[in-house]
Amino acid sequence: MAGKQEQNHGGNELATLGGVFNSLNINVYSYTHQNPLKYMDPDGRKLEFAKGSTPQFRQQIAQMVQYLNKGHASAVLAELQKRPETVYLKEGATLQDFYYDPNSKTIVVHPRSGLQVSPGKVQTPALGFLHEAGHALGDVKGTAASTAPIPGDPYDTKEEKRVIETIEVPAAKKLHEPIRHAHHGPEMEEKEVKCSTCDK
Ligand SMILES: [Zn+2]
Repeated sequence: MAGKQEQNHGGNELATLGGVFNSLNINVYSYTHQNPLKYMDPDGRKLEFAKGSTPQFRQQIAQMVQYLNKGHASAVLAELQKRPETVYLKEGATLQDFYYDPNSKTIVVHPRSGLQVSPGKVQTPALGFLHEAGHALGDVKGTAASTAPIPGDPYDTKEEKRVIETIEVPAAKKLHEPIRHAHHGPEMEEKEVKCSTCDK
């Protein structure tokens, strides 16, 4: 029952995206040398690749978008794409380079960095990308929570709790990925995975 309801809900979310996501899916290879994200919205230049982004990185991001879209977990990206502000996407150099920088409005993603939430349970880089997109959307909308560190709190900050509980966990459930209810933990660490939508 819940599954069906979710499916319908996802369908409604995606209806507003029109065929642009679909054309991205179909034409992923031909679009990657340009800016695949641009094609999610006809007049959208709101989510852009940073200068110097390689064709491989562009393709990896397109694969993540396709994966999130298929799992009905791409609403945050769609909303970000409709914003007037431009948010940039940049490839991280190391597995730990995975964050959103509000000063430069840049999401930094390492396309092979999966987050191990507990031993053997690894989230895909795509889910990590969605998490950072959640921070970016909160920032540009002005709905981000406080980023002041809370000593001893498993979420570290109110903003991490907001993104994990309202964006990451619901998406992880839809995508059948491991779920976490904390931002840090003794077993949490970045693991190199085979592809941008792989969990090992
Ligand atoms: Zn975060």
